[in-house]
This record gives sequence, C-alpha cells and structure tokens, in this order.
Amino acid sequence: MTARVLVVGSANADLVVAAERRPGSGETVLGGDTAISPGGKGANTAVAAARLGAEVALLAAVGSDGYGELLAASLREAGVSTGLLRVVDRPTGIAYITVTPDGENSILVSPGANSALTDVDVDLDGVAVLVLSMEIPIASVEAAVAAASAAGVRTVLNLSPAAEVAPATLRALDVLLVNEHEAAWLLGSAGDPARLLDLGPSAVVVTLGARGARVVTATGTVDVESPRVDAVDTTGAGDAFAGALAAALAKGAELAEAVRLAVRVAAVSVTRHGAQPSYP
Ligand code: ADP
Repeated sequence: MTARVLVVGSANADLVVAAERRPGSGETVLGGDTAISPGGKGANTAVAAARLGAEVALLAAVGSDGYGELLAASLREAGVSTGLLRVVDRPTGIAYITVTPDGENSILVSPGANSALTDVDVDLDGVAVLVLSMEIPIASVEAAVAAASAAGVRTVLNLSPAAEVAPATLRALDVLLVNEHEAAWLLGSAGDPARLLDLGPSAVVVTLGARGARVVTATGTVDVESPRVDAVDTTGAGDAFAGALAAALAKGAELAEAVRLAVRVAAVSVTRHGAQPSYP
C-alpha cells in the first residue's frame, strides 16, 4: 500500500513524572506515578494527519519491547499504516519527562532505535507529501528529501529539534516548518523570518505559539491568527500542526489554506492533555 502522506521520523515512549522540583546533580527526588504515552515527533505527526482522514504511513524504528508494541498499537488505532515501521535490535526510544508545578518540562531523550533509522530508500510511488522531523539520523533526513525532490514529491521538514542539515537539503524543500526558537537558531538571531527564504526552501512556515503562524513565500507574507483557547498543555502542538499541514496539502490545499487548518488543529490540541491523545 502506498500512502498519500509519508512521515519519516521518530517514535518514542513518553514517560512523564510530576515532581515538586527537578533533581539536581547527585540528588534523588520522589515524584508521582509514571504516565506512559506514545510520542516522538514522527509518530505524533503521523497520528495527527491520520486523525484528519489522510492516508498516512510512518517510516520509523522501534525496538522489540513493550514500548515498541505500545507505539505500533497507537499508530494502528489512529489508522496509520505500520507497514514501514521497523523493529530493530535497539531499545525503543524513550523521552524521560519531568513536569514541575511551574509548568516547565525537562526532557531527557534516549533515541535508542531511532538512531538505527538508516538506509531510508523509500518507495515514493503514490506519495503526495513527505514530512520529516529531526530526532533521527540527519543523513536519513537528507537522503529522504533528496529522493522526494528528485521524484517531484512535496517535502515538508519540521526542523525540530533544530540541528544542522546540509544546505542542499534546505534548498530542495517545499516547506521549511519551524517555531520561533528554531527560526532564531537558523538565522543566528531573532530576526525577520522572511530571511529564511534565503536558505532556499520554496516556502517557510513559522509557528508563533498562541499567535498562530506566519507563511512566507516569494510572493509575500501571510499571517494566520490562532483562535483564542484556554491552553492546558502545549506538548506536541508543533507535531499536530505538521500533521494537519501535511494532510491538507495531500488533499490539494494551497499552502495558506493548509496553514489555516493546521493552526485550528494545533489550537484544539493545546486545550487537552498529552500529545497524541489531544489531537482532533
Ligand atoms: P512548538 O510546539 O513546536 O514549540 P509553537 O509553540 O509555535 O510550536 O506551537 C505550534 C502551534 O500550536 C502554533 O502555531 C499554534 O497553532 C498552536 N499553539 C501553541 N500554543 C498555543 C496557544 N497557547 N493557544 C493556541 N494555539 C497554540
């Protein structure tokens, strides 16, 4: 089966513990019960797109352990094709998340199986949009973008978490998707996101938290406001945005129209707890 949206990215189990404060060096702190939920930017993005009715496949790697099974089950439940999900000889990636009463998260990621996601020479036949995020080997991101670009498949790179990618990869992109921090990192300073077009993508989409998102193309800038919502948990909002954007583009939407849907979907996601469970 070929899917219209192919997501290449990470799959992690999120282990979340609430604590009064985060432990310092050499210190032990007792926290609450551990909540385990499926996560990872790639898996989250795929689930968000599938929940909107898109035909989605995820190319990711998990270990042959319980967390890998949890991730596969959540993908299947959302309707994501798991035919490309690899089971490798490394533990499933885990994000150890400490949440403190100030609402701040500290996250330690053990990439595990995600590090083994190499040799991504995927079959792009029938794929309309390829979505990538980081947390996997950068060479795999670069190879997938090059293959999609050569095949005329639309590419969206969510450069999150921000990391160095080859200039040729940025030039080959249809859409470079970043939040404000990632935009500033790429620019070397907080500055006009329009300058990101100089890196060569056809379009740049910058998410602006509660303010919505900005779309920049050679023809100009469009600001898309977010609906006002009571945010309770912004975990995975950027991934919800990426998934909705891809789903809309795969259905033939114009970029600004796709961003309008993505802003609405991400706004709903912040009104509910968790990442995947919060996606409409
Ligand atoms: P990230 O989650 O990757 O750090 P942002 O904080 O920019 O990125 O959030 C991504 C998207 O989620 C935003 O473009 C917006 O659509 C939505 N969003 C995030 N925070 C809020 C909020 N407080 N109210 C409404 N929408 C939000």
